[in-house]
Amino acid sequence: AKSNGRNGYVIYDPILKESYKDKLTLKMDIEKALENDEFMLYYQPQVDIKNGNIIGVEALIRWMHREKGMIYPDKFIPIAEETGLISKIGEWVLREACSQVKKWQNSNLPLIKVSVNLSVQQFLKSDLTEVIKDILSKTEIDPKYLELEITESMAMEVDYAIKILKELRNLGVRVSIDDFGTGYSSLSYLKKFSINYLKIDKSFVWDIMNDESDANIVGTIISMAHNLGLEVIAEGVEDKDQLKFLQQGNCNFVQGYFFSRPICAEDFQREFYNLQRE
Ligand code: C2E
Ligand code: CA
Ligand code: CA
Ligand code: CA
Repeated sequence: AKSNGRNGYVIYDPILKESYKDKLTLKMDIEKALENDEFMLYYQPQVDIKNGNIIGVEALIRWMHREKGMIYPDKFIPIAEETGLISKIGEWVLREACSQVKKWQNSNLPLIKVSVNLSVQQFLKSDLTEVIKDILSKTEIDPKYLELEITESMAMEVDYAIKILKELRNLGVRVSIDDFGTGYSSLSYLKKFSINYLKIDKSFVWDIMNDESDANIVGTIISMAHNLGLEVIAEGVEDKDQLKFLQQGNCNFVQGYFFSRPICAEDFQREFYNLQRE
């Protein structure tokens, strides 16, 4: 049954053809979305495990599609990477995140930093440092309130990574390695990178109460990071037991549904800032 009933011609690979069409449509949709301002940042608090204080937020992009509703990044970031649109999106994210932090600071709210996810292409683009420098000066935030999250795989080109990370740190921003533990990692290069934090991937945190090897991995990552002078953020913390385990393991910061899902700036301000100010 390779024949299309209506037109009678043969479609050899309907699945490929379908996904090709979807990709093109998606690319045009993303371009329109940028023009029409359909992207939004949600913020998820990062909490100091010792005292429960919010020390920062991670900015996570959402697409408010006019017909389809909210679309999650996993659905469009990969296509944006493939089509090169990610640079534009990524710059928008950086600007938006920095201006939001500035707004909070201008309203005399407690100072927190914002973490922004960088894509592979952004990281590899030669003007990254310049772009960030420009955003910092235009939004007038102190660089120490901006944190950049890169993944292990981006740092595979070790010499390049060492150079760029040094440049970024010289700007005064902070850097963390995201999804740590899922990729290729070597202690010897971690030592050479100018980074501040390791983020333990949520796939390890999920099962720490049941899976002894995950628990061991998490414990090992934390002590290794501390030996290298790095602080550790655990992501995907969903319940109290996981939090307790991480507390006992001397983890520094936690992030996850146990504290809050990612929420829009307004909700964040209402739920967390107003509470802290009381
Ligand atoms: P990520 O950087 O690893 O972000 C963490 C993801 O885990 C987020 O998904 C977050 O909503 C989710 N999460 C947080 N706490 C929990 C929890 O307790 N349980 C569970 N099950 N999930 C939790 P989200 O927002 O859908 O983002 C998915 C990925 O998309 C991110 O993974 C990141 O790789 C990418 N992404 C998001 N925003 C951006 C962006 O602005 N630029 C780029 N380049 N990538 C982005
Ligand atoms: Ca991240
Ligand atoms: Ca992650
Ligand atoms: Ca990720």
